Amino acid sequence: MKKKVIITGGAGFIGAELARLSVKSGYRTIVVDSLTYAGDRERLKEIEKEIAFYKIDITEREPVFEVFQREKPDIVFHLAAESHVDRSILDPSLFLKTNIIGTQNLLDASKEFGTERFINMSTDEVYGELGKDGMFTETTPLNPNSPYSVSKASQDMLGRAYYRTYGLPVITVRASNNYGYWQYPEKLIPVVILKAYHNESIPVYGKGENVREWLFVSDCAKGILAVAEKGENGEIYNIGSGEERKNIEVVKAILDLMGKPHSLIEFVKDRPGHDFRYALDFSKITKKTGWTPTVGFEEGIEKTVKWNLENINWLKEKKKDLERLWQRVYKRQK
Ligand code: NAD
Repeated sequence: MKKKVIITGGAGFIGAELARLSVKSGYRTIVVDSLTYAGDRERLKEIEKEIAFYKIDITEREPVFEVFQREKPDIVFHLAAESHVDRSILDPSLFLKTNIIGTQNLLDASKEFGTERFINMSTDEVYGELGKDGMFTETTPLNPNSPYSVSKASQDMLGRAYYRTYGLPVITVRASNNYGYWQYPEKLIPVVILKAYHNESIPVYGKGENVREWLFVSDCAKGILAVAEKGENGEIYNIGSGEERKNIEVVKAILDLMGKPHSLIEFVKDRPGHDFRYALDFSKITKKTGWTPTVGFEEGIEKTVKWNLENINWLKEKKKDLERLWQRVYKRQK
C-alpha cells in the first residue's frame, strides 16, 4: 500500500501545492493545519475529498500526539510556520512559539510513533545574506538576521539535533523564495498584483536593489517530494532555481504584464536588517535525486499574474487583514 503522509501547514501556499502533488502521486495524504490568517482550505478544494484534514495547532502537544497515534504516518512533511518577515519584525514571539516549539512537538511525536522520514522545511534565509557574488551551499554556516530567519534556523537545527541525538530520520530542505498560485498577498509578488489591480501605489523597500532567487511553487513541491523519496537521512538539500532578480525588476515585470505604469512604484524606507541577496547552489539535490527546476522566471511570472487576476476575488478577501498589517508596517517606517 502507498505510504501515508502528514503535511503540516498543508492549507498554506506551498503546503497545499505539496498536498495536491502528494495526492496525485498516490500517497494517502493527511493535512494538519490550524488555519491561521495564512491558512485557507479553499486552496485544497480540488483534493478535499481525497485527504483527511485535522485543524490542529502544532504548538499544542496533546492534539499533535493524538493525531500521530491515530494516523501513524510514514512520512511527515513539516511546513506549518509563521512565514512573513515583516510580521516577525512587528511581533517575534509567535514566530518563536510556532516555528520552534511547534517543531519540537512534531519531532517528539515522530520519534514516539516511529515515523520513517521527517522532512523539515527550512529556508535560504537561514544562511544570512550574500554580497553581489557567491552562493550558499549546504555547508555554509547559518547566520540568520531577522526574527523569522532565526526561528527557522532554530527549527532547522532542532531537526538536525534530533537526527544526531535520537537517530530520527530527519532531512532538511532549504528553499529559495517561492511564487505561484494561491500565495497570500502579503508577499511581494501578489501584493504588487493586488495593489496594481486597484491602481494603488506600490511600496518598494529601499531602491528595490535587493536580490532574491525565485522558485515556482510546483517546482518546489516536486523538489520536496524528490528529497523524501530519494534523499538521505541527516542530509540537507537546497532547492533553488538560479532565477535571480532584483525586487525592482520583479515589480516592473508585473506592472508590464498588467499594462500598468511604473509611476505606481513608491520607494519607501528599507526594511530593518533587510538581507541584500540570497542565492542557492542546488547541485546536491540534482545529483542525488535528478530534480531540477522546470519553470523559468518569465514563464512563471506570466502564469502567476494570470492566475491572480483570474482569482482576484480571493486576493481581495484578504485585503482587510492586509490593511491592518500595512498600517503597522507603515508606522514603523516613519
Ligand atoms: P504560509 O504562511 O502560506 O502557510 C503556513 C501554513 O501554516 C498556514 O496554512 C497556516 O495556517 C499554518 N500554520 C501556521 N501556524 C500554525 C500552527 N501553530 N499550527 C498549525 N498550522 C499552522 O507559508 P508558505 O509560504 O506556504 O511556507 C511553507 C513553509 O515553507 C514554511 O515553513 C516556510 O518557512 C517555508 N519556506 C517558504 C518560502 C516561501 O517563499 N514562501 C521559502 C522557503 C521556505
